[in-house]
Amino acid sequence: MLLHDDINTAAKLIVEGRLVAFPTETVYGLGADAFNARAVARIFEIKQRPSFDPLIVHIASLDDMSLLTSDNDPRIHQLANAFWPGPLTLVLNRTDRVPDIVTSGLPTVAVRMPGHPVALELIKKAKRPIAAPSANKFGKISPTSAEHVRKHLPEVDFILDAGHTTIGIESTIVRLHETGFQILRHGAVTMQQIEQLIPNAQLASQNEPVAAPGMLKTHYSPDKPLYLADNPIVPKLNKQKCGLLSFTGHNTQGYHAVVLMTESLDLKEYAVKMFAAMHHMQDNPDIDYIVAEPVPEKGIGMAIMDRLRKAADKYTSPDSIQ
Ligand code: AMP
Ligand code: MG
Repeated sequence: MLLHDDINTAAKLIVEGRLVAFPTETVYGLGADAFNARAVARIFEIKQRPSFDPLIVHIASLDDMSLLTSDNDPRIHQLANAFWPGPLTLVLNRTDRVPDIVTSGLPTVAVRMPGHPVALELIKKAKRPIAAPSANKFGKISPTSAEHVRKHLPEVDFILDAGHTTIGIESTIVRLHETGFQILRHGAVTMQQIEQLIPNAQLASQNEPVAAPGMLKTHYSPDKPLYLADNPIVPKLNKQKCGLLSFTGHNTQGYHAVVLMTESLDLKEYAVKMFAAMHHMQDNPDIDYIVAEPVPEKGIGMAIMDRLRKAADKYTSPDSIQ
């Protein structure tokens, strides 16, 4: 059980420039004082994250916004009112106060107010915005429990444990343009939800270069090959060596292990369990390959398929079967 004392300790460590892993509703974050460039540098070091991949800065109140941005677009407030605290990150023009290392030298900063009481209390007690990426090594599976963090990032100074996260997938990242908005990363807040709120929003052209460094083709990867079930490689695999992430519950015969991700085709439930199921398969010594059944790309299904495709990307070629 998490004690308030733990949050006090964690806040003190943040103030001292140390790193704290903490729960958010999406995934566990690895946090540092956003205004302490040295502390933030240690995030990059521990995660082995390339310096071109900027961090999201977490706030606990709208008052903190003025420290980070002077943008005053009314749509920011509309989105903040509708989705904060919650899984939406806004990319805004930054103030000079935000260290370059946080934004990878970009003129913009990504900001989010997380919807988890422990995260909010930590930020409030530390009395400063907290820069935090997911608390995992770069490119690996995101942590949805304190246990995942302990196992994969033992270097962290302190871990606040509040059990499993409730959304399980990283935030939606949005950039506003004069004519509309662009989703830089899919998450639990869907494009349809945002479109309902910003009337006459035009989607930025798909041909425009996506202004989200760090959005690499390969990401969120388990240490074992992951294939989407419709990949022609899959029938050639020895099923006894495969674990299946099943969406429909169909065609599960012969697999060494099957995780039925949802009993009722519920995409939200799938998202909550996705990274934990990947961790589970990765840790099972009898499994050499992970097979994931694709899910419908609607609502949070867009975000799920984005993560599954990125997890699978390294392993699309038949040469990758040893
Ligand atoms: P993570 O913290 O690992 O969930 O990832 C944060 C992601 O947010 C980065 O990989 C970027 O793609 C995106 N991001 C952060 N800051 C910016 C920014 N200033 N402009 C565009 N994208 C950003
Ligand atoms: Mg991450």
